[in-house]
Amino acid sequence: MAAENIKSLKHNLALVEQGALLSNLFLRLDIAIFEYDNGVFCALSSLPDWFDNLYCQQMAAGSGLANDGYHLEEAFPFIENFLFDAKKIWQKNTDDEIKSGIWTETPDPLNELNLEAIAMRCGERSLLLIVNETKHFDIRRKVFQRARDLALSNERLESSLYLHQRQLHLQIEDLYQKNQSFDEIQNNIQDESTAILICKQDGSVELFNKALIDIYAISKDQTPPQKSLLKKWSEEAEKQYPEIRRILATGQHWEGEFETEDDHQRKKWVRMMIAPMKSDDDSLEHFVCIANDISNIKLSEREIERLIQLDPNTHLPNRRYFWNQLNELVALNKKTGTCLGLIYLDIDHFKQVNNELGPEKGDQLLKTVANRLRQSLKKDDFVAHLGGDEFAVIIDNVDDEYMMSEIAMRIQENIARDVVFDDLTMNVTLSMGIAMYPKHGIKPHILVKNADYAMYHAKELGRNQYRITSPELHQKVKHKIQIEQGLKTALEKNEFRLLYQPQISLGSKGEFRMEALIRWHHPEHGTVSPADFISVAEESGLIIDIGRWVIETACEEAEKLNKAGYNAKVSVNVSAKQFQNGQLVSEVEHALNNYRIDAEQIELEVTESLFLHNLENIQKQLNELKDLGVTIALDDFGTGFSSLSYLKKLPIDILKIDRSFISELPDNQHSRTIVESVISMSHQLGIKVIAEGIEEQTQLDYLKELDCDYVQGFLFHAPMSSQDLIQLYQSIAPIKNKASRTKKLSNS
Ligand code: C2E
Ligand code: MG
Ligand code: MG
Repeated sequence: MAAENIKSLKHNLALVEQGALLSNLFLRLDIAIFEYDNGVFCALSSLPDWFDNLYCQQMAAGSGLANDGYHLEEAFPFIENFLFDAKKIWQKNTDDEIKSGIWTETPDPLNELNLEAIAMRCGERSLLLIVNETKHFDIRRKVFQRARDLALSNERLESSLYLHQRQLHLQIEDLYQKNQSFDEIQNNIQDESTAILICKQDGSVELFNKALIDIYAISKDQTPPQKSLLKKWSEEAEKQYPEIRRILATGQHWEGEFETEDDHQRKKWVRMMIAPMKSDDDSLEHFVCIANDISNIKLSEREIERLIQLDPNTHLPNRRYFWNQLNELVALNKKTGTCLGLIYLDIDHFKQVNNELGPEKGDQLLKTVANRLRQSLKKDDFVAHLGGDEFAVIIDNVDDEYMMSEIAMRIQENIARDVVFDDLTMNVTLSMGIAMYPKHGIKPHILVKNADYAMYHAKELGRNQYRITSPELHQKVKHKIQIEQGLKTALEKNEFRLLYQPQISLGSKGEFRMEALIRWHHPEHGTVSPADFISVAEESGLIIDIGRWVIETACEEAEKLNKAGYNAKVSVNVSAKQFQNGQLVSEVEHALNNYRIDAEQIELEVTESLFLHNLENIQKQLNELKDLGVTIALDDFGTGFSSLSYLKKLPIDILKIDRSFISELPDNQHSRTIVESVISMSHQLGIKVIAEGIEEQTQLDYLKELDCDYVQGFLFHAPMSSQDLIQLYQSIAPIKNKASRTKKLSNS
């Protein structure tokens, strides 16, 4: 029994000693430790002097050390909210802890304490620690201060570089607009300390200055630079900006910083601006590249970056942080065999807000979007501001695409609320692209590229939506960008051809008529159909040049046929953009004169969509064309709004019934009614009718019954080359005496 007692005494003594040791330790560590029990805080060990003093002071001298424990909420209003969260932790059955973050108390004017509270659930016990972080805080503050100073000076440097590059760009653009020559630009930039290069889209050099040679250590016998620097730069920048190729391919403006290699394989950091130089008709002619060596800034930035990786405006992780995180998470998911989802987001019409309302409002909008993004996501989801109006979200450990769609929809819903700026309310929307690891790429940069393509596609589809990437979509967008890029040089490289599809008269014999249809012989994709590139050409404005070429070539063909003895009529498709441009009439006139052909030999095919534009102006141009002697056909009739009132108002000579109605003849009652009434009504108005896309004999028979004037379709001939066309004419109507069939040229 005595032995038992002695054992228990020793045990208690050990506990007391342990308690004394811990108490001592807490004092040394400057920690005040309390146990929370039934709404009361009790000190678990002796409290440090600073705490006693502060507590007495806060609780009006003496009253704080009451028997009913410490009134910490009252003494430290700063932690009142924190204690609300702490109580939740203390109710848990599992160990957990939260921290309050550092707050400052000033017991006297010369003394400042930096404190942090930590609430812990430890076994069955609820503990609150108040830690004096003053010493550490001082050190941390100094580090932060240094980082901030460095960042500020870098920021100043960077923003002056940014401004300088912008000014240079404006200056160059101005000189170019004035003279359309590079000579004066060369004189102006020769001694500029910022590197400048002007090149074509394929990288071939127009001009450069000495600073470029210096940065890139290009030797004298290598000037002008032998390889395409534009290509090299976009490959280098692509590691951080996978969207750069798309941006340049579509002739847009790009700015960024990336690591580059000079001619001696030395690594450097440059800040670069690549801006398109466009001609009067908005087609891309050159890129001007403006670059500064920012290796020094980058060196000190690396130091800062470990501390500050946040965007200063939105306080979201920046691009660099995003890449670190993505690399890390991809590696982690690879190990665990789990999936990861990436969303690339872009604010719709942000440039417009920035330009029209100013950069301050732009920043405000970015902040709002950042906050709404944060609210739409869970604590562990990662959201970054990549720069400009681009954001990215990484969702770790996702189940499937369905889950990503749900997140994208939640974001969409959260974002689509009005943003109020003082006196202005605007609606904000996003376009989003989604890619999944490993399904859409196992390398981070492929993943990002895929998400970016999907985002671009979402924008193209009309914005305010999300798209999940797929190999087909990737291919489609890539193809479209290649088309866009290729179109810009297709005319120069003589890659277009016209084919001709005969239109057969069901009434008179010996009439030669055909429609000119464009084809593009793409060096990689082979023959591209107009359905795949005309809309792109229209969007980019290139249709103006292409359309002019079509008119010229069609007139050249008419002249060739005249010479072969066939007085033929060539029908040419023209787009609404050509009318908007205002040059169409003079271009037609020029081509007629150039090839010395009769205006009646040319017909212009327009679609109903043309009448949606300024109708008065269109009417005026159509009348001018009519005055020249050119005839007008209304193409694809039935597919637009098919308003018959235009037929009366506008000088239409011929109406082309769309293939979609003809293909359903003669069985479909609906199509029969339409075709019948269109033909009879047109005839009443003195307008002739062409039926398009005849493929079957039954269709032809039916159209003959209805008294249709002309037919065109594969049943007779597919579109053919100029050579084949002449051979065809020679086979059906051999010319014995050329002069007898050649119409006397009116203007010869
Ligand atoms: P469109 O003006 O309605 O031309 C008729 C289209 O139908 C042509 O397609 C022609 O090859 C096709 N076609 C003709 N007969 C048949 C047939 O029996 N069956 C079928 N399935 N198709 C038939 P294509 O050449 O691919 O041209 C498509 C469209 O591209 C044209 O439709 C026109 O809107 C546009 N386009 C073609 N060339 C030019 C051009 O030089 N300028 C402009 N702005 N647009 C053009
Ligand atoms: Mg047509
Ligand atoms: Mg048509």
